[in-house]
Amino acid sequence: MNKLNNLNFTNTFIDLSPELYQAKSPDPVVEPYLVDFNPEGAELIGLDPVESRRPEFAEYFAGNKLLPGSQPLAMAYSGHQFGSYNPRLGDGRGILLGEVTNGNGHKWDIHLKGAGPTRFARGFDGRATLRSSIREYLAGEALHGLNIPTTRSLAIIGIRDLIYRETPELAAVLVRISDSHVRFGSFELFHYTNNPNRVTELADYVIRHHHPDIENESDKYQIFFRRVLHKTALLIAKWQASGFVHGVMNTDNMCVTGVTFDYGPYGFIDRFDPRYTPNHSDTNGRYALGQQAEIGYWNLSKWGEALCHLIDPEDILEELTQYQPTYNKIYRDLMGQKLGLGILDSEFTELMGNLFQLLHNNPVDYTNFFRALSDYPEGNHAGIFLPFSNRKEIEDWLDRYRRLIEREGTTFEERKQAMDGVNPKFLLRQYLLQRAIDKAVKEADFSEIERLRVLLQDPFRDRPDIFKKYNIDPEYYASDTPDSMQGMQLSCSA
Ligand code: AMP
Ligand code: MG
Repeated sequence: MNKLNNLNFTNTFIDLSPELYQAKSPDPVVEPYLVDFNPEGAELIGLDPVESRRPEFAEYFAGNKLLPGSQPLAMAYSGHQFGSYNPRLGDGRGILLGEVTNGNGHKWDIHLKGAGPTRFARGFDGRATLRSSIREYLAGEALHGLNIPTTRSLAIIGIRDLIYRETPELAAVLVRISDSHVRFGSFELFHYTNNPNRVTELADYVIRHHHPDIENESDKYQIFFRRVLHKTALLIAKWQASGFVHGVMNTDNMCVTGVTFDYGPYGFIDRFDPRYTPNHSDTNGRYALGQQAEIGYWNLSKWGEALCHLIDPEDILEELTQYQPTYNKIYRDLMGQKLGLGILDSEFTELMGNLFQLLHNNPVDYTNFFRALSDYPEGNHAGIFLPFSNRKEIEDWLDRYRRLIEREGTTFEERKQAMDGVNPKFLLRQYLLQRAIDKAVKEADFSEIERLRVLLQDPFRDRPDIFKKYNIDPEYYASDTPDSMQGMQLSCSA
């Protein structure tokens, strides 16, 4: 484990052509303070967690001091936002400090979000609100806890200066960890400005660092595209199965390693509703739950266009035909796992279709329904029936489900254990997240952020000792979302 001043930095992005970035240090702030620190993030980058107790920790990660070995920069990119091309994006408030290699040889980007305006800021202040930083910080850890590919979080550093949105607000710097920050939009920028050499340079860079096994293949770009397509389909299938809605699936928020950035107005569904979007500004529901799989395809096709001088467009189209079947297969497997079923035949399809109808037509908590189902038929499953207005409908469904369980040849205990390992007991519900934000913003009490981080990093089981240490009441956190707080929405402003 390393100290702050001997993190193992390399800075490979800064060795690329200068058009790809602006070399820039973060802007200093007055008296930065630690809001929350994530020891799991520190472990990823080989940082001794004890270092978080030093006052220098906040100084380094607010950008007041430069970590030895880091060569900071803001990345250039463009992208499609809500279906329209925006030629001018880039890290307006983000600074990539460099990559840190941990003891296992894994390299992680360290990125500060809200570290002052860069040349891509377009007149904005280069800062991020404390509330939006808390949202993104916890999203990374909660998604990871659900085994969903994501960026991770190291810390939130509070800053004293107020920033101005609709009202004056507290600001913070989010310290984000990711295996890459190269986006679909990074390629789009150079494609649409007629600069194919930079597209090639970026593709070669990502292949060198993330797919070294194909570097010498004649069709390496096509294989690269295929792999990203597969990772994107996997990512979105996992979102769908867990009811996660990203809210802003613009191409500048999609990374070529199959993760997403910039968790803003995101949310998990309370009840099953394909039209749900947590993004209040998305009035057409472009990024609603039921649209995400198709948007993944749309974004990949936009990225494919940007690669058209590297890959024959016919071949890109051919690769794209694999998206839907790949996605369908993964999603079906995941839903099978949620139900504890491995035989995924036409009876399973029918069972799933009927279940979605039942969940849609009744006030059922999506997450807690699946969790409760693992107690059927032998455990205490009386609660399953409660939200259904027509008891016979759910009983009929359960009878058919039981027949499919019996075909599997697994014991009740085996199935329960497997189901409880994929259906979380705890979830980053909007109202829980909002409560953590309110406590932080109104009372400078950050304990709820810590509680949610600890709880959601392992959301599948009770951990009495840890719950006691952090004062976590499992029944409170495992409850359905109260009716008055169902389906919450947020605006994009942050
Ligand atoms: P995001 O919502 O974080 O994906 O941001 C979309 C684009 O707007 C990116 O180019 C950001 O860098 C930029 N941006 C958003 N807020 C700010 C801000 N306060 N200052 C500078 N740039 C910003
Ligand atoms: Mg973004």
